[in-house]
Amino acid sequence: MPKIASRVSQLTGEGALAVFSRAKELEKEGRSIIHLELGEPDFHPAAPVVDAVRAAVASGRDRYVSTRGLPELRAAIAGYLQRTRKLDVAAEQVLVAPGCKMALALAMMALIEPGDEVLYPDPSFPIYPSFTRGLGAKAVSYSLLEKNKFQPDIAEIAAKVAPKTRVLIFNSPNNPTGTVFSDAALAQLAELAKQHDLWVLADEIYARILFTGEYKSIWALPGMAERTVIIDGFSKSFAMTGWRLGYAVAQKRVVDALDMLVLNTFTCTAEFSQVAAIEALNDSTHAVPAMVAEYRKRRDIFIGKLNTIPGFRCQIPDGAFYAWVNIEDTGMSSEAVQKLLLEEAGVAAIAGAAFGAEGRNYLRFSLVSATHLLEEALERIQRVSLHWRANTHATASRP
Ligand code: PLP
Repeated sequence: MPKIASRVSQLTGEGALAVFSRAKELEKEGRSIIHLELGEPDFHPAAPVVDAVRAAVASGRDRYVSTRGLPELRAAIAGYLQRTRKLDVAAEQVLVAPGCKMALALAMMALIEPGDEVLYPDPSFPIYPSFTRGLGAKAVSYSLLEKNKFQPDIAEIAAKVAPKTRVLIFNSPNNPTGTVFSDAALAQLAELAKQHDLWVLADEIYARILFTGEYKSIWALPGMAERTVIIDGFSKSFAMTGWRLGYAVAQKRVVDALDMLVLNTFTCTAEFSQVAAIEALNDSTHAVPAMVAEYRKRRDIFIGKLNTIPGFRCQIPDGAFYAWVNIEDTGMSSEAVQKLLLEEAGVAAIAGAAFGAEGRNYLRFSLVSATHLLEEALERIQRVSLHWRANTHATASRP
């Protein structure tokens, strides 16, 4: 039998999808499931965006287009980053891709050599270490710990920089913790990157889903525009997951490299999606602030109540739409709590190990269901919590 290339065996999947398929099975059996496992907004794009895609298809905007993306969309993204993040970016520094994940993969293919080392946060999006290994490089994690409010420990990262370290990846606000890296952390990471001549891959996909202050990108710090690649997209901020729209922002020579990869793989991003993306960026109906306000409400309701359930502990995230919950005090493993919640309570959440070893005592809940469903989920969790409360009491009272 011909062999599959070994790089594929280096790749791993995403835990959320396994829980999602089990949840779907249970639903088929007639069970009621509250879905808090996937990072997919329950909103849909604003009406003008949907009108724009319809009009684009009707007027024949369904052709091969520029490999880098439509010039008008690239200019619109540059303007949007100026408006929302005060970044000075030229349209020629933007490359459009089908999804943030594809922009990430292109950037990693362009920057990482086999044998390189790549620093990435633990916990974080599982694709960072997976794709790093797929490229023949070594994925080296740095921890985001609860005792540090999930901020990076710069001394730990500095100690892990080796001669072969080429890329530092981070994601702020972070999936799954919701942490927004502090100004001090960004400044120190920037210094480290300059000192060791590293590329910085800044995954800013949750930048708009921010509950306090203004978003600060590492790109804006002195000397960082030339070594930073911003990854972003439309899936989360504009609730356009299935449209497959993302982009990378980098200096022109990086964009040229990404462009060559586009040319050799998918040719271009769908023209009609790109036309409608311009409408999304304009956000004429203020859909984005309305969604963020709703996520904030959900965060406050869900996490406020969750913290009253014995055994659960959750810091209030500053961004994204997740609750990252420490379940150590239940006395059960997070896999066992995940199973109990799904099978007995009908609440789908993910055991934190899916996001790295530091996630072993955590569960991630995505706040992507309406508040009445979140309230129902809380009642169900409260009910099954009697399980571990009984167990922990039994253990505690044993001699
Ligand atoms: N980066 C992070 C941190 C994510 O959480 C996700 C999606 O869950 C992505 C990238 C992928 O985004 P997209 O759906 O646009 O490919």
